[in-house]
Amino acid sequence: MDTTLRDGEQTPGVSLVAEEKLLIAQKLDDIGVNIIEAGSAITSKVEQEAIKRVARAGLNAEICSYCRIRKEDIELAAGCDVDSIHLVVPVSDLHIERKLKKTRDMVLSESVEMVEFAKQHGLIVELSGEDASRADINYLTTLYKAGLDAGADRLCFCDTVGVLLPERTYEVFTGFSKLKLPVSIHCHNDFGLATSNTIAALRAGAPEAHVTVNGLGERAGNTPLEELVVVLESLYNYKTKIECSKLYSISRIVSRLTNINVSNNKAIVGDSAFTHESGIHVHGLMADSSTYEPIMPEMVGRKRRIVFGKHTGRASIIMSLRELGLETTKEQLDEVLRRVKELGDAGKRVTDADMQSIAETVLGIYQEAAVKMEEFTVVSGNKVTPTASLKLRVGDEEILEAATGLGPVDAAINALRKAISGIADIQLEEYHVDAITGGTDALVEVWVKLGKDDKIITARGARADIILASVEAVIEGINRLIQKGEKYRDK
Ligand code: MN
Repeated sequence: MDTTLRDGEQTPGVSLVAEEKLLIAQKLDDIGVNIIEAGSAITSKVEQEAIKRVARAGLNAEICSYCRIRKEDIELAAGCDVDSIHLVVPVSDLHIERKLKKTRDMVLSESVEMVEFAKQHGLIVELSGEDASRADINYLTTLYKAGLDAGADRLCFCDTVGVLLPERTYEVFTGFSKLKLPVSIHCHNDFGLATSNTIAALRAGAPEAHVTVNGLGERAGNTPLEELVVVLESLYNYKTKIECSKLYSISRIVSRLTNINVSNNKAIVGDSAFTHESGIHVHGLMADSSTYEPIMPEMVGRKRRIVFGKHTGRASIIMSLRELGLETTKEQLDEVLRRVKELGDAGKRVTDADMQSIAETVLGIYQEAAVKMEEFTVVSGNKVTPTASLKLRVGDEEILEAATGLGPVDAAINALRKAISGIADIQLEEYHVDAITGGTDALVEVWVKLGKDDKIITARGARADIILASVEAVIEGINRLIQKGEKYRDK
C-alpha cells in the first residue's frame, strides 16, 4: 500500500490539490503499486473531491481512504467510491486512555461495530492498530481476531512513533504468521529504522507493507517505496511487481508537487546516490562500475554522474577535457584546474556541464553572454508588496518583466524566472546564500543551481548587495546553460 497521498500528505507543509493527487495516483498505478491510500475523506470537501477523482480514474490499484472508528468517516469514504478503507484504531493504553479517554473494552466493541458497518457498505476493510508497537500484544491480538470475525479483510500494525526494532518486529510478526493473521506493517522513520523494520515484518510473513514515495510522512516520514523495492529486488533477490526503472521519475514528480526536496544523500533517489567525485573512486569505476556502485543507476532510471571538486586532480581534468574534444596549453589547464578547485573549495560540486563551461570560458570559446541585464528595480518596505521589475536583452530582443514576492530577493528571482521562461526551459533548483562575513557592508555570496533538460550547473554571484548578487548568479547560470547557437524558443 502506498500512502504518499495520505500519510505522505501529512508531512508538515504539504498539501496536494485534486489534480496533483490524481497525477501521483496514476504514476503509482503505472509502476505497479497494489493499493493506493488516496487520502482521508473526513478531512474536507476538497479532499473528498480529490479522493473521488482518484477512485473514478479507472486505475488498476485498489483505492483506499483512511477512516477513524466513526460512522461519519466510513460514510464519507463510501461516498467517495473507494474500494477499501484503512480503519485506524488506537490500541495502546496511552492512546486509548489519554487520547480517546476510553477503555480497552469500549475500543474493542466500537471497532467490531465499525468493521461490520463498513462491510455493510461493501468496503474492503483493513483494520489497523494505531501505536501497535506500544500496545499490549494480547489485547492487540484479541482485537485483530474480533475484527476478522466481524468481517475485516486485512489487518495492520502501525509503528506510529517509529520505536520498533528489527528483531522485535520479526518476533511479533512470526507470532502473527503462526496465528494466520494477515497483518501488514506501517512504519515510521523516527530512528531511521523504517526500511529495516518493514523488511523484518515481510520476512516473518507480513503480506503487505505501507510505503510512501521519498519516505514522506509525519515527522521523519514513513518507509520509502524506492528503498523497500530496491532492497527486496537487489539484496533479497525477491521479484516485486514494481517497475524499478520508473522509481526515480516518480520520486522527482512527488518532490516537485509536494515541494519537499529529497536530501542529496538519500538512498536510491538522492542527488548524490550515483554521483562520484574522488579521483580514486572514479578510477575504479572506469575499470568496473561495481567497484563503487552496488547497483547500476539505470536499474532505477538514473544515470551515473562524475563531478569535479576539491578532490579533482590534473589527470581527471585532462581526461575530461579530451572527452569534450578540447586541447589546452599548460597555462589554460592550470586556469581550468584553479577554477574547478575554487568552486570545490567553496563546497560546490562541479558537474560535467560546469566543467565544459569553465573549459570553454578559459579557452575563449565561450561566446558573449546571450542574456544581459539592462535595468533592474526592486521596491520593498513595510507597507508595500515587495516588487521587482527588470529589463533583459536577449540578442535583439528586449524582455520586460515584473513580479512580486515574499521579500525583495524572492520578488527579483520571480521576475527573472518569468523573464527566462520565454527564453528557455530553465529551472532554478536551489538558491543558497553562502557567506556573509563581517559587517553590513560585507560581500555576500549567492550560489544557485539551475537545470535545463538533464544539465545541472552551479553559478555564483558576489556583491555587497544581496539582491544584485542573486540576480547576477541566476543570469550567469542562464548564460552558461544556453549553448552556442541555440535557437531561443519563440514566445
Ligand atoms: Mn502513519
